[in-house]
Amino acid sequence: MLIASDTVVSFHYTLTDASGEVLDSSRGREPVAYLHGHGQLFPALERQLTGLTDGAHATLVVPAADGYGERRPELTVSVRRDQFPVDADLVVGSQVMAQGTKEPMVFTIAKVEGDTVLLDGNHPLAGKDLYFEVEVIHVRAATPEELAHGHIHDGSHRH
Ligand SMILES: [Zn+2]
Repeated sequence: MLIASDTVVSFHYTLTDASGEVLDSSRGREPVAYLHGHGQLFPALERQLTGLTDGAHATLVVPAADGYGERRPELTVSVRRDQFPVDADLVVGSQVMAQGTKEPMVFTIAKVEGDTVLLDGNHPLAGKDLYFEVEVIHVRAATPEELAHGHIHDGSHRH
């Protein structure tokens, strides 16, 4: 069956960046399953999945702007070390909650230098073009109940 609106699609993917570094993969786990045409994946990814069928292999490219967005330099802030609890473990690459301009948001610790901690509020994959190597496992029509709920009733989600 061809992938189209209101089909339930399961697929495996391996996500790499432009340099070929693997960022994420569904291999070794259950395939990802979703209801096509309901905004559950990046629109640019859904567009490219449309028309593929069971067993298809494809490499789908999602430019940064259509994925996690471009990096925004203004989301990088310097904070004094003493703004954190004394026992805070400030490891580069780990994530902390901090006050954003409006509400608390997740920052990644980008750098710790003396008394200064550089926090980056960008998504870790912001600014990266995403390369999805996909294998379509199965395509089926959604049930009326799934369409009414706007999600699928496979796997972990059943009610
Ligand atoms: Zn439901």
